[in-house]
Amino acid sequence: MRCDVAIVGAGLVGAGLAAALRGSGLRVALLDTGSREPPWQGAWDTRIYAISPGSRDFLAGVGAWGRLPVERTTPVAAMHVCGDSPGAEVRFSAYQAGLPELCVIVESREMQRALRATVESNDEVSSHYCVRPASLAMGEDSALLELEDGNSIEARLVIGADGAQSWVRESLGIPIQARPYGQQGVVANFEVERSHGNVARQWFRTDGVLALLPLPGNRVSMVWSTWDAAAERLVCLDPSDLEGEVEQASQGALGTLKLLTPARGFPLRWMRAAESVKPRFALIGDAAHNVHPLAGQGVNLGFQDAAELARVLLNRGAQDDCGDFRLLRRYARARSEPVALMQAATDGLQRLFNNDVMGMKWLRNTGLRLTNGIVPLKRRFVSQALG
Ligand SMILES: Cc1cc2nc3c(=O)[nH]c(=O)nc-3n(C[C@H](O)[C@H](O)[C@H](O)COP(=O)(O)OP(=O)(O)OC[C@H]3O[C@@H](n4cnc5c(N)ncnc54)[C@H](O)[C@@H]3O)c2cc1C
Repeated sequence: MRCDVAIVGAGLVGAGLAAALRGSGLRVALLDTGSREPPWQGAWDTRIYAISPGSRDFLAGVGAWGRLPVERTTPVAAMHVCGDSPGAEVRFSAYQAGLPELCVIVESREMQRALRATVESNDEVSSHYCVRPASLAMGEDSALLELEDGNSIEARLVIGADGAQSWVRESLGIPIQARPYGQQGVVANFEVERSHGNVARQWFRTDGVLALLPLPGNRVSMVWSTWDAAAERLVCLDPSDLEGEVEQASQGALGTLKLLTPARGFPLRWMRAAESVKPRFALIGDAAHNVHPLAGQGVNLGFQDAAELARVLLNRGAQDDCGDFRLLRRYARARSEPVALMQAATDGLQRLFNNDVMGMKWLRNTGLRLTNGIVPLKRRFVSQALG
């Protein structure tokens, strides 16, 4: 088949881009190795995202936000960030920031469904699931993507939206700079004894960062970023032992916990592709960059990539070749600084907090106490975190 844009990877970011290209006049093919229906991992998905107001506006603009079931989304009214010594904490609220909420917690599966349904309502996009690309050849006027099932797609522009281990990026031999954190993000859902009050809680500890994010009702979703050995131990614990460890690490803030879904670990690394565009080619989302999840910004960065690339393609004016390198470089230039800033910020926090060097514990706990007392500084952090 022939199209203008072939998007490899229908994850949140790839599907987000396909949805954002509505009205561009471009014929889009969206393909994914996985099935259309996201895999079932229990009644409440353990993969959840803190969607920033900027990403929510993007999702609303493409028509996906309204498709989310309201009863499965949780607005976050406040954040409590605690250190590892008494009284070391920063608290900020949506009320102080003059906002209806700081962010909204949404399950990955629900967002995936909403985005895919949005894409399917657009006649300009053809979706292909359970297909695997076999080879990619870049020509002067078009790129040829051959699939393992014998079919092929000829496109004027190929987008790599196929995640951290991007096949597209590797096929084109694009080098990456990467540094594993030696940590995993351990995720699990719990039922809690005390009301979470729509507060997102984080504990910065020497052994990692524990986050308990509010889900509807008396449920919370945990992301505990910790060293590999500790993470492997956590995922192997009996439910009651895991419940006890999380309760202790969260200083009993939510009372007793009951495990709802088994714990799973995701390896964490810092990564940036050396190039995010080439003639007839662009990378978006995790295929282009990975950040530590302590600030919950990975998918938010990816949605901003999708929004920017769609903006460039929608405003291409007289330039009707969507794979033109000059056009794609506009996207790369616009995204370079925001991605570098977010990577530096999350990396710096990870080094400062997951550090046992003498004096660091004092420094981070004092930093939290001071920040809590300086309202303009808190506002600045909030506005950065909200993108
Ligand atoms: C523990 C943890 C917690 C996190 N929490 C947050 C958070 O709270 N907020 C936040 O913003 N971010 C968070 N992130 C980051 C977030 O998960 C990622 O940034 C986001 O999922 C990236 O989306 P993506 O669409 O770029 O890639 P992916 O989600 O990896 O999607 C890639 C898609 O490509 C498909 N694919 C793969 N290979 C191929 C191929 N060869 N051909 C075709 N299709 C292919 C896959 O099936 C998949 O559908 C977290 C990450 C971790 C590890």
